[in-house]
Amino acid sequence: MIIPETLLKTERPVMLILLTGAAGFLGSHLCDRLLKEGHQVIGLDNFVTGDPANLKHLEGNPNFRLMEQDVSAFIQVDEPLDYILHFASPASPNPASPLGYPNLPIQTLKAGALGTYNSLGLAKAHKARFLLASTSEVYGDPTVHPQSEDYWGNCDPIGPRSVYDEAKRFAEALTMAYHNVHGVRTHIVRIFNTFGPRMRLDDGRVVPNFIQQALRGEPLTIYGTGEQTRSFCYVSDLIEGIYRLMMTDEHLPVNIGNPIETSIKDFALTINELCQNPSGISTIFTDTLGDDPQRRQPDITRARNILGWEPQVEMRDGLNLTIDYMRQKLGLPTRQV
Ligand code: UDP
Repeated sequence: MIIPETLLKTERPVMLILLTGAAGFLGSHLCDRLLKEGHQVIGLDNFVTGDPANLKHLEGNPNFRLMEQDVSAFIQVDEPLDYILHFASPASPNPASPLGYPNLPIQTLKAGALGTYNSLGLAKAHKARFLLASTSEVYGDPTVHPQSEDYWGNCDPIGPRSVYDEAKRFAEALTMAYHNVHGVRTHIVRIFNTFGPRMRLDDGRVVPNFIQQALRGEPLTIYGTGEQTRSFCYVSDLIEGIYRLMMTDEHLPVNIGNPIETSIKDFALTINELCQNPSGISTIFTDTLGDDPQRRQPDITRARNILGWEPQVEMRDGLNLTIDYMRQKLGLPTRQV
């Protein structure tokens, strides 16, 4: 894929970038990409859900330094920042998850609201550019399909997922306000379901749940009928899209995700096949499934047109890489392919 030349122009070839949520799944991959492009990165994280292991390989890298801090407290950086990327947030809660992943409703709201406010204030003070990691969850349980950026969403403001959805919707509104009122050069990426190495094993999401169950030879737990759909993007594709967006002047939201839609049931069958798990699936119905979005698929027309971007990695290839990662994390022997 060739990046249009206009997208590669930046004010300074080497930027000093503050990335919040640097130890998270997406943050750590983005860190790697920014460093690979020759930039200098300050990674901010309070390790509530971020994992120091995701940044371990950067120890001793002179272009990277860690700032251990909660993004919802005032952020002080003295050197002139060129760019701020706000990725800090606990992952969206899965109300049906029986795994006991710490549900962090107030931290989630604070990261989306106060964290965005602090990061934007810093961007304004430094005359730095700003990119917000938003989410397909702003579309809630969508009534239009696929979801394009001009769809307003269908969200329950007090439902179990609302702490994430509403925090991100507020974050988008605040980002637009700083753009319109203060002239901050802002960007908003709406991230759809993404998977890959460095996902938390215990966050209750479908990819780590299914892979771990398959590796243990257990039936995969499908919540509800399994007819609900998601569209899964491999992490390297997502990072490519975000990097391209960073380099544009586009301030309106852009969906980044894989438009290939799959039912959760088919997804489970694929993982069982790749892990050679003979135990099949089991179905779990609980009364907390009510707000589970039934269909989700990004319309990526804007990303195609503005960024010249579309996903390259086949789901099965991405899953194999993720399975290998999870085997290694679980201390299982490497697969012989
Ligand atoms: N899901 C499932 N079994 C699991 C975990 C999740 O069937 O063990 C379903 C969940 O109900 C949802 C989909 O998989 O329909 C994706 O869930 P996830 O939490 O990964 O992401 P999100 O709902 O935020 O898109």
